[in-house]
Amino acid sequence: SKSPEKKPEWLKIKLATDCNYAEIKDMMRSKTLHTVCEEARCPNIYECWANRTATFMILGDICTRACRFCAVKTGLPTELDLAEPERVADAAEQMGLRHCVVTSVARDDLADGGAMIFAETIKAIRKRLPLCSIEVLIPDFLGNPDSLKIVMDAKPDILNHNIETVKRLSNRVRARAKYDRSIELLRRAKEMQPSIPTKSSIMLGLGETLEEVVQAMDDLRAVDCNILTLGQYLQPSSGHIAIERYVHPDEFKQLKEEGMKRGFSHVESGPLVRSSYHAHEQVQSAQAA
Ligand code: SF4
Ligand code: SF4
Repeated sequence: SKSPEKKPEWLKIKLATDCNYAEIKDMMRSKTLHTVCEEARCPNIYECWANRTATFMILGDICTRACRFCAVKTGLPTELDLAEPERVADAAEQMGLRHCVVTSVARDDLADGGAMIFAETIKAIRKRLPLCSIEVLIPDFLGNPDSLKIVMDAKPDILNHNIETVKRLSNRVRARAKYDRSIELLRRAKEMQPSIPTKSSIMLGLGETLEEVVQAMDDLRAVDCNILTLGQYLQPSSGHIAIERYVHPDEFKQLKEEGMKRGFSHVESGPLVRSSYHAHEQVQSAQAA
């Protein structure tokens, strides 16, 4: 289907210059670190960095998968950088982060999918910034429970794994990942560490119906997933899967209500919402719940 032509008003971003954005950017360069905030050209970057939230992408910037919505390069990753956890912790400390999200490309080339590096990164950040909440946004590790356990044993403050879209569209939108496997991952995470809040995210505007979104909410709640984020899918380039429609802010509001009714402790829902947007508030409400 054809993409809608014009970006609606509500997706235009206000630029704020009241944070030390340039300074942080230089520091990232000097430590050869990747943030999703920059690489995905996230519209919330000024607000998040000013609020001391950032999302690091570990395990390199080349992914073994090629999801149709994602701007990350696909290829065969070449190295495993064992010093990366310390560099991430350094940067987190210099930024004085209050909430740190750690995510990665899918490293299907590694036996543990990169789980050990996730665990080391959690530990390194916690040592430097004991008060900083740490959220990991993990790939599915091809469904390997041992990898998941390595991450859960390091006790992140939030375990995040995105289902990305509704069940019907899953195979079309995501590469190799499976809807049911992702739900199962969230179930196992909760079984391994019942006190750690779990979280997931759905992009809207790919042709899903509202009923299908609500069904996905039910599937997530059935495995006691606690936090949900809903945002508008934006096409990174013309080679990526097309936007079916721009979802109106009122529908996002309505879906938030549906989610809260279903017992999520926090639902962040709006056109510009990204997985880690207002993540600090999400941890607080999950802990209070
Ligand atoms: Fe970074 Fe996430 Fe904030 Fe975007 S929403 S700027 S990716 S922390
Ligand atoms: Fe992008 Fe993740 Fe898919 Fe890799 S697995 S292409 S990083 S969404």
